[in-house]
Amino acid sequence: MASKEQLMAVARSCSYYRVEGMHNLLTYPERSCENCLNWDGERCKINVFDNVLTGLDQT
Ligand code: SF4
Repeated sequence: MASKEQLMAVARSCSYYRVEGMHNLLTYPERSCENCLNWDGERCKINVFDNVLTGLDQT
């Protein structure tokens, strides 16, 4: 399981990050996979998490 810091860092860089409507974009102060529509509670449903995380390490 990824750390909270990783979930936030990945969500900030992920182009697939989705929330339900603009209202929620304003409601959530911090982007995190945990509040992304593609997160199922434990993992990324569309399997882009690892790719984004790997990309972060390369910067
Ligand atoms: S849950 Fe998946 S799609 Fe959503 S921000 Fe995280 S890695 Fe990206």
